Amino acid sequence: MLNPQSVTATRLNSRRLNVTQELVDPNALDVVTKLKNAGFQALLVGGCVRDLLLGAAPKDFDVATDATPEDVRRLFRRSRMVGRRFRIAHVRYGRDIIEVSTFRKSVDLEEAGDRKATPDGLILRDNVYGTLDEDAFRRDFTVNALYYDPHEEEILDFVGGIEDLQAHRLRFIGEPRARLQEDPVRLLRAMRFQAKLGFDLDAGITDDAELTAARLMDIPSARLFDEFSKMFLSGYAMNVWKIIEPTPIRNVLFPATSADNRLVHLAMQNTDQRIAEGRPVTPGFLLAVLLWDDYQARISELTRNKKINEARLLAAHEALAKQRHVLAIPRRFSQFVNDVWQLQERLETRRARQIQRTLSHPRFRAAYDFLLLRSQAGLFETRIADWWTEIQETDSTQREQMITELAPEPRRKRRRRRQRRQS
Ligand code: ATP
Ligand code: MG
Repeated sequence: MLNPQSVTATRLNSRRLNVTQELVDPNALDVVTKLKNAGFQALLVGGCVRDLLLGAAPKDFDVATDATPEDVRRLFRRSRMVGRRFRIAHVRYGRDIIEVSTFRKSVDLEEAGDRKATPDGLILRDNVYGTLDEDAFRRDFTVNALYYDPHEEEILDFVGGIEDLQAHRLRFIGEPRARLQEDPVRLLRAMRFQAKLGFDLDAGITDDAELTAARLMDIPSARLFDEFSKMFLSGYAMNVWKIIEPTPIRNVLFPATSADNRLVHLAMQNTDQRIAEGRPVTPGFLLAVLLWDDYQARISELTRNKKINEARLLAAHEALAKQRHVLAIPRRFSQFVNDVWQLQERLETRRARQIQRTLSHPRFRAAYDFLLLRSQAGLFETRIADWWTEIQETDSTQREQMITELAPEPRRKRRRRRQRRQS
């Protein structure tokens, strides 16, 4: 499809575009410099170049090079090779990781080599190395295919990315239908970048959304879970949700979640706000929200012939199992969802004897946040949610008092018990 025969890049002075070395993460710069000193080509590429050109702070800095992952492995002591579908090197600097990928090319699907595709064109492995210009053409969107050479102080553009960036346009390199055929996840990426950057999607990207959404079912659930995390834990979850809500994508990714769900909207806003404030977020919380209605419906169904406690556990298990067909939810997150759900009942009923234990439960804080959200969504009594807010803010004597007030006539109960023991 894309066979750029000796394409030359438009080279632009990066300073004139307000992109300078000082804006680059020092570790990423170090990787580029060391690779160059060893005689390799090395440039910054992808989201970081795009974001720098937009005057935004990049989330991470990716390096592209003609060195193979093995070369990189040898050159950097603290590095390792990762990925099967897409082998790259990770170079570690303390807690920071720089991703280094070797130039790759887009090969005709029938062509042999280390690239595997299914009969309908889905790429399974993508490890055919190539040259810099070939690497540009195999990328998804023009604005994601810009390279920055921090030493030469140049931006390299093979695909008209600068123009699209300036026009705020998200455009596939090549034919949308073909690029989506190769990899339907690119539709999720298009919607994510639309949400993040506020760019317009180029014609054709959402034309066959129904078909593309259906083809997402062929994508490994682990990859879809990663994509889910990027979509909703990068600080623009509400925008992403608004975009996918009326589309078949919502149905495929979250088969149990309805549109116009107030709890979901509040949770997306809440997640974005937490990220903006630098507070921790977890995919577990969003999953607890997205699956809440389904969990509740299953409880009602199951209590017809099961005890309530058993029904709750089974309902949680079933709701998570259904979602796991699409997203490979790691164990620790489904455990988190389950804990938050099971704690709701304890928060709702406020049994005096359980309060202290509930307050010191490792998931109490998350469960409380979830309860607050439910009350904000009008799904639960604000009075009780407020009570939980208050008890966390009081000192220990006041806390005792609040708990005592909950217990119905505690003295009489105690006396009765004592009498029984004596007899
Ligand atoms: P973000 O700022 O959210 O990280 P990004 O553009 O860096 O955005 P990544 O997922 O980190 O996105 O991918 C890095 C780069 O790899 C992209 O900019 C793009 O050039 C290329 N890329 C990633 N996924 C694909 C894909 N499915 N098809 C083609 N190219 C891709
Ligand atoms: Mg990135």
